[in-house]
Amino acid sequence: MTRPHLILNDELTWHDRKKWNEALSRLRDLFSHHKSDLSEMGRLARGLKGQIAAVDHFIQLNTAQVCPNCQKVCCINKHGYYDYQDLIYITALGLTPPLYGESIVDTAPCQFLSEYGCAIERSIRPFRCNWHFCTDLIDFMSAGPAKPLREFNLQFKKLQALRQEMIDYFFFILSRDNNLDVP
Ligand code: SF4
Ligand code: SF4
Repeated sequence: MTRPHLILNDELTWHDRKKWNEALSRLRDLFSHHKSDLSEMGRLARGLKGQIAAVDHFIQLNTAQVCPNCQKVCCINKHGYYDYQDLIYITALGLTPPLYGESIVDTAPCQFLSEYGCAIERSIRPFRCNWHFCTDLIDFMSAGPAKPLREFNLQFKKLQALRQEMIDYFFFILSRDNNLDVP
């Protein structure tokens, strides 16, 4: 169970730039100055990245059939920002978040939506983007062959568990070692 945290919690948003930058800078400091304490995080994050990549083909096959006909595309700008768990994940991978465009309202089309779909590789998209399946998509997937769907469901459960393990481990390390805490 992830414990509540002063800065790394559901309240963290890019729109509060001061807190966002502070969280990023603390995370970078943590990962660069406490490599040995957090080395397991890199392994977990790389495992999760591989697991997300493993479901890419199946999702892509299905979205390619359903999404081009969509009348109400779900990719609006507010979904394109990382949350605090995404930030922990990409920092553990040694990556940095994209530079978000200024003055784009949350309800506008997502700034990463290109004519070919999402411009961000699936394995490092905001996690919410990877588990959003609208009714049309679910219906289409359910009407397809059962075996690939079963395999996908299994892989998807695995990746959710891996992500939880990574986040739990991160907060376990922080709380075990108070001097690593992010105030
Ligand atoms: S996932 Fe569903 S809502 Fe989103 S673009 Fe595809 S069809 Fe539309
Ligand atoms: S999938 Fe990509 S384009 Fe769609 S909301 Fe997420 S980041 Fe934006």
